[in-house]
Amino acid sequence: YSSAIPMAAITRLVKRTTPFYSLARGFASTNTHAPSRENRNIQWVFLGCPGVGKGTYASRLCKFLGVPHIATGDLVRHELSSNGPLFSQLSEIVNQGQLVSDEIIMNLLSKRLADGQAKGESGFILDGFPRTIKQAEILEGVTDIDLVVNLKLREEALLAKCLGRRTCSQCGGNFNVASINIKGDNGGPGMSMAPLLPPEHCMSKLITRADDTETVVKERLRIYNELSQPVEGFYRSRGKLLEFELPGGIPESWPKLLQALNLDDYEEKQSAAA
Ligand code: ADP
Repeated sequence: YSSAIPMAAITRLVKRTTPFYSLARGFASTNTHAPSRENRNIQWVFLGCPGVGKGTYASRLCKFLGVPHIATGDLVRHELSSNGPLFSQLSEIVNQGQLVSDEIIMNLLSKRLADGQAKGESGFILDGFPRTIKQAEILEGVTDIDLVVNLKLREEALLAKCLGRRTCSQCGGNFNVASINIKGDNGGPGMSMAPLLPPEHCMSKLITRADDTETVVKERLRIYNELSQPVEGFYRSRGKLLEFELPGGIPESWPKLLQALNLDDYEEKQSAAA
């Protein structure tokens, strides 16, 4: 692989010294304990289409478990907002809904991991990476990902969820103004998702991502199906993929996700172990 990518740095950063624990049901290891707060040992990946809610659930889970949430989309947007040397190259790619080169992404990611390591971070949940088989192969070559959660949502909701996305330009909070009501057809269940509205003081500061327009979202969905969906099969064949179909909005989905991850009694286990 290109020598511009600091592979040795990534290897050093993500190599673990602690044993493997798998938390998710169906991924049973001999050790059934949840990781302790001191010896946290989570190296997870969240996969899913644009609009599925990867960022929302990955960041909630990270807060819950106390591990860093590393979203390559955020790294790319941060690079864009800082007007660095990559600005014009990146903005054109991102605003067309295309993928940034593996080389740029690996550089941004390894820098983020190095910064985290300097601050004493351990473990992570990756969101938005890997997005191609090539990226998955690179990651698999340098670390041992425990679990890959593949979030799924009914297709009818994806576009609306992307178009409803808003960020507060001041506090950086992520919200969604879309109110989704899908009628059940042929006797199938319907689905509703309430909007995730910002507090009053953020209302006047909401911004929309430049790549959340209908044309660009459709292109991102197409690219996801072409380049990123094969990553699901990559991890499925390695026995690491946990499929999770979101049953609705956060109130319905969050407790079910914790259950699927065998984390529903995580806090009790933590206090019992303390
Ligand atoms: P989405 O809502 O589509 O999942 P993200 O916030 O994850 O969006 O990413 C935004 C954009 O950043 C992508 O459309 C792509 O241009 C770029 N990007 C993010 N992660 C990667 C990656 N792993 N590989 C290539 N490009 C990426």
